[in-house]
Amino acid sequence: MQKSEALFLQAQKHIPGGVNSPVRAFKAVGGTPPFIVKADGPYIYDADGKQYIDYVQSWGPMVLGHNNALIRQAVIAAAENGLSFGAPTESEVTMAELVNSLVPSMEMLRMVNSGTEATMSAIRLARGVTGKDKILKFEGCYHGHADSLLVKAGSGALTLGVPSSPGIPEDFAKHTLTMEFNNLDSVVQAFEEYGDDIACIIVEPVAGNMNCIPPVEGFLQGLRDICDQYNSVLIFDEVMTGFRVARGGAQAFYGVTPDLTCLGKVIGGGMPVGAFGGKAEIMQQIAPTGPIYQAGTLSGNPVAMAAGLAALKQISAPGLYEQLSKTTQQIAQGIKSIANKHGVPMSVNYAGSMFGVFFTDIERVTNYQQAINCDTKTFNKFFHGMLKGGVYMAPASYEAGFVSAMHDQAIVDKTLEVTESVFSELTR
Ligand code: PMP
Repeated sequence: MQKSEALFLQAQKHIPGGVNSPVRAFKAVGGTPPFIVKADGPYIYDADGKQYIDYVQSWGPMVLGHNNALIRQAVIAAAENGLSFGAPTESEVTMAELVNSLVPSMEMLRMVNSGTEATMSAIRLARGVTGKDKILKFEGCYHGHADSLLVKAGSGALTLGVPSSPGIPEDFAKHTLTMEFNNLDSVVQAFEEYGDDIACIIVEPVAGNMNCIPPVEGFLQGLRDICDQYNSVLIFDEVMTGFRVARGGAQAFYGVTPDLTCLGKVIGGGMPVGAFGGKAEIMQQIAPTGPIYQAGTLSGNPVAMAAGLAALKQISAPGLYEQLSKTTQQIAQGIKSIANKHGVPMSVNYAGSMFGVFFTDIERVTNYQQAINCDTKTFNKFFHGMLKGGVYMAPASYEAGFVSAMHDQAIVDKTLEVTESVFSELTR
């Protein structure tokens, strides 16, 4: 990795940590991140000419695989007509209609430029329409880096939140309640205490930022019922799960309908795009039809819309999500069987094309505390073994893995072959 090493050193002079988003720096696993020069299908290629099978997929967007020809052509064609107009375009109308047909609960929607913007705007809207200040989120869920969302649980159940980053005033954090994922009782308790002041619950319907943790039976429906009871807004943050766990997102997969949905990643086909939307009566409260302010110079950008539309049109291919689920299951179960064969305890979770491996003897990991108590030392050795063998997994034990439509049987077989040699080495 001579070139990547040189670039990483150079990068650190003018970019904090050498990266424009922290997890890319390999801080959790140590070592030098490969600098990437191109990507195609299931592969990424680094500056030293090495090819990797990629299970990060740009952290989720590339459900069709890298450098998809139709997305690339759509972007080039749109760019020929100019990069941004700051005025309405037909592609935004097509996008809104297409998203509504795929996710019917999004009766109206707004395009934004990132997942963070989507969640931040959805929360302002929920507060604005309910006139309430507090929000309820879950430990281990990540919803972007807006102030009220970078908040962790205070000490002891039911205490008000504390900032999880310097720079966030305690006065903001105290409005955020952080409960245990998959624990409905903790949510009921919070609503008994603060229910009249809780504007919304925001949840990743499949948690993908503490490894991969699907909801237990009844959890999402329970959140729906509590929000109905207290007139709070239920927000599904489907930035990661949207168009990935299923064509209609996690809400289609689990059959629970939120009031508002946040999207990102797949909806941009690789361009910086997010969206939030939901019930028309709520969305109409946004400016200019309503008093709640939200805006964006580059929102609905024509080149980004072209990429997103080309992605969303292709995900309607029959059988795509069945194939993605099957491949994901094969990879997750395959890694687990190899680990177990070598006497390494492992548990795996998967939902649609997201998966997670946990170095633990807990049979099913369902919450943050269990996820962070896994054996990170062994994970780090596993990660570096896989990387050396040409398989690029997420560089931290608390990140989900992603599978694309371009991960075919040969890619699965190769991944498991590398896994086998990594575990032989690990346990030697
Ligand atoms: N919500 C979820 C569930 C996410 O996974 C992420 C990013 N990984 C975000 C929000 C924030 O999105 P962005 O990084 O585009 O701001």
